[in-house]
Amino acid sequence: MEHNSSGHLNTGHWADITAEKVIREKGDKPVYTCASGITPSGTVHIGNFREIISVDLVVRALRERGKSVRFIYSWDDYDVFRKVPKNMPQQELLTQYLRQPITLVPDTLGRAENYARGNETDLEKLLPLVGIAPEYIYQAQRYASGYYAADIRYALAHRDEIRKTLDAHRSEPLEADWWPVSMFCQVCHRDDTVIQGWDGDWGLTYSCACGHHETIDLRQATGAKLPWRVDWPMRWVKEGVDFEPAGKDHHSEGGSFDTAKLTVKVYGGDPPVTFQYDFLSIKGRGGKISSSSGEVIGLDDVLDVYTPEVTRFLFAGTRPNAEFAISFDLDVLKIYEDYDKCERIFYGLQPVNDKEKAKQSRIYELSQVSQPEAQPPYQVTIRHLATLLQTYGGDISQTLAALDGVSDSQRARLEVRARCAWNWVTQFAPEEFRFSLLTTAASRAGLSEQELTAFRLLREAVEHQYATLDEKGWQDKIYQIATDTNLDAKQLFMQIYRALIGKDQGPRLAGFLKIIGKDKLLQLLA
Ligand SMILES: [Zn+2]
Repeated sequence: MEHNSSGHLNTGHWADITAEKVIREKGDKPVYTCASGITPSGTVHIGNFREIISVDLVVRALRERGKSVRFIYSWDDYDVFRKVPKNMPQQELLTQYLRQPITLVPDTLGRAENYARGNETDLEKLLPLVGIAPEYIYQAQRYASGYYAADIRYALAHRDEIRKTLDAHRSEPLEADWWPVSMFCQVCHRDDTVIQGWDGDWGLTYSCACGHHETIDLRQATGAKLPWRVDWPMRWVKEGVDFEPAGKDHHSEGGSFDTAKLTVKVYGGDPPVTFQYDFLSIKGRGGKISSSSGEVIGLDDVLDVYTPEVTRFLFAGTRPNAEFAISFDLDVLKIYEDYDKCERIFYGLQPVNDKEKAKQSRIYELSQVSQPEAQPPYQVTIRHLATLLQTYGGDISQTLAALDGVSDSQRARLEVRARCAWNWVTQFAPEEFRFSLLTTAASRAGLSEQELTAFRLLREAVEHQYATLDEKGWQDKIYQIATDTNLDAKQLFMQIYRALIGKDQGPRLAGFLKIIGKDKLLQLLA
């Protein structure tokens, strides 16, 4: 097996390849800075999460190479409130705040002190669950504290050079009166302003549609802000960003990454190592990440159905430039099976060739919230958990008790998996997966003489042979009863399902009888 220069396994994983590229292109540095960020102008959805976890995986790969890494997450919350999101209550009230910074918009959901903060905290409380812990930077605070005053003055002083970098990717050049700065009015807080002039130092003059006009001192007054295409490269230099991926929108031809690569030179810096990550779609739940009614599929929705490890696996196991769907339908079963296979390969429980072993093991490591457990976790399929949970009315401890050989150290992970299985089967599984055990014996009315005999024979078998018959034994027994009573086996199966769950079909019957338990069976077959 090959080793690279830093002594790590050359796994070929994209996170490792990117980490190596960062080291190669940025040279030996005491600290590497990896960045991600977003405007919290709405609920942060699972497509946005793809960027965060892409950075997290590269951060891990760098740290595993002994590098010191700063992982910064920028909340671009000094951006303007452009549109009232449909999922927010009090739409009319919110309309009054259009064109103000999103940190001044009230949070009508009552989550936090303002709308931006509400969206931020929603995500900040989830990320630790999947092992992601960036350092958050709040741009509204940064701008309001004058932290960027010199950088804004620098942009004003290099207005023409910056204009050239932006014009390089425009079909029409910027207007003659274009300034590399925008202003929120100090009185009405809206950005409906026009820059009137700059005194060559700290004084910036603007007028507002509300009638207000003034000259502010960039070091003291708030309101001035660099436009996105200037703000982004300025911060690359300010923070010394070595790696930052971006979505298709920023990475399109002439998009903000293209212009930022030029503008960053004006600030005397270099662009970070980057890659483009692709969009995500949703399967088994409307297909879209955000619906027209404002409902958004977030990390919390994914964690309802996928454990933190399997959630990470979805991203760690897929190349960032590949489009894929987060599934809520039957694919959930397959994805857990793929994860479990990856786990068996990691623990050497399923033999594969060296190349596959290295590949799968690396994906498994990167899928863990922290370190892989010393002992292999307990494996049980979502399908089986769903059957157990529904038999026990969603009771997780009863479900775990029905599994053989679960050790104490395996319990915590298994409980999370069981919760996900329960959420899946009750909310997203196809109808044929769902059932609940009847609470009382069904009526005999409508049963034929032969069927009644068959039930009596079945009940006798439960009473006297329950413990001695295994799954195979029960399978044979039911067929035997069908033969003895001259019934079509399919017809008998259907009648038994009806007696147990009130449906024509259900989980594999022999195994199901073992799960239900003797006492409950006697009661239902009475
Ligand atoms: Zn104003």
